[in-house]
Amino acid sequence: MSFFGGGETASFDKKKYEILTLSIRQTVLERSHHRCQKCSVKLKGSNGPFFEHINGALKDNRPSNLRSLCDKCFEHVKVKESRKGRLGSIRNNLGQVFGK
Ligand SMILES: [Zn+2]
Repeated sequence: MSFFGGGETASFDKKKYEILTLSIRQTVLERSHHRCQKCSVKLKGSNGPFFEHINGALKDNRPSNLRSLCDKCFEHVKVKESRKGRLGSIRNNLGQVFGK
């Protein structure tokens, strides 16, 4: 068996990005220079970072689908995402983000 030669990698990748891991967050933060991508405020401690799913798919945590936001900008996104989140397992992810 070969684990490297082509095949069904698409579904594997989806699984891989189902959870917003620490390394994904790092990638997004480094790309945005640890700033909010809406208002450009520096993200540190109490004001973030929070992550918005650009295409609205909460299980699509590819860095290209994520934006780092401060707590104020995320307020608007949170409403949108929590509405969708009732159907999925996003609550686990949000729980980690909010640290509650
Ligand atoms: Zn902001």
